[in-house]
Amino acid sequence: MKFAIVDGIRQEATTGIRGICPGCGSPTLAKCGLKRLHHWAHVSTAVCDRWWEPETEWHRAWKNLFPTEWQEIHHRAADGEVHIADVKTANGTAIEFQHSPITGQEKGSREAFYGSMVWIVNGNRLKRDLSPFRDALIDAPSAETEARAWLLSDRASAIIERWRGGSRPVFLDFGDVDFTSSWLPSTGVLWWLNFVPRGRVVVTPVHRQSVVDHYLSDTPIRGFGRPIIKQARIRPRF
Ligand SMILES: [Zn+2]
Repeated sequence: MKFAIVDGIRQEATTGIRGICPGCGSPTLAKCGLKRLHHWAHVSTAVCDRWWEPETEWHRAWKNLFPTEWQEIHHRAADGEVHIADVKTANGTAIEFQHSPITGQEKGSREAFYGSMVWIVNGNRLKRDLSPFRDALIDAPSAETEARAWLLSDRASAIIERWRGGSRPVFLDFGDVDFTSSWLPSTGVLWWLNFVPRGRVVVTPVHRQSVVDHYLSDTPIRGFGRPIIKQARIRPRF
């Protein structure tokens, strides 16, 4: 965790201090070594949120694009379980930055728990994911959207298939990568997967910063080729 409560105030970890977990109230210890990001760990028990995954640089960099008061928001479910949203926006949308593998069942539980939420997925966890994803786009037909997009089978590549069946927007983050399209920059792109009926997915490259801005201030997500994607205004769905 990035934050714990110290003397009643939410704070980041610094060497030698102890705090209280904002989720479960148990003692936490600041871990400030050289190898891992500075973080808080529970002193005695396991992490209170079973959905929590160890934070990577990738997680921390994404979280830090949003105000600190939106980061690591704790929720207690009806059954008493604690869950920590990576980011929760002013509109109440949870943003989950997903690096580790996740089962379909766990994905479904989190989508149900948070209601309005989106996934931002690290596309570079497995080196083998990028090439098949890129290859799948080559022969795919264009989708009928206002931005450049493709319509694919939801089994067109392994990373698409792993995220199929969900009902919330998924943005794949492959970092800086050359997709060998003259109109597509090699930096600042996310790949928006919008799963549609009959086993298909609309794949739309979008400006990464426009996704951040969308959740910061409700501006439209921008694709390429044409100015604005109308259906990109993602609304909470319950
Ligand atoms: Zn805890």
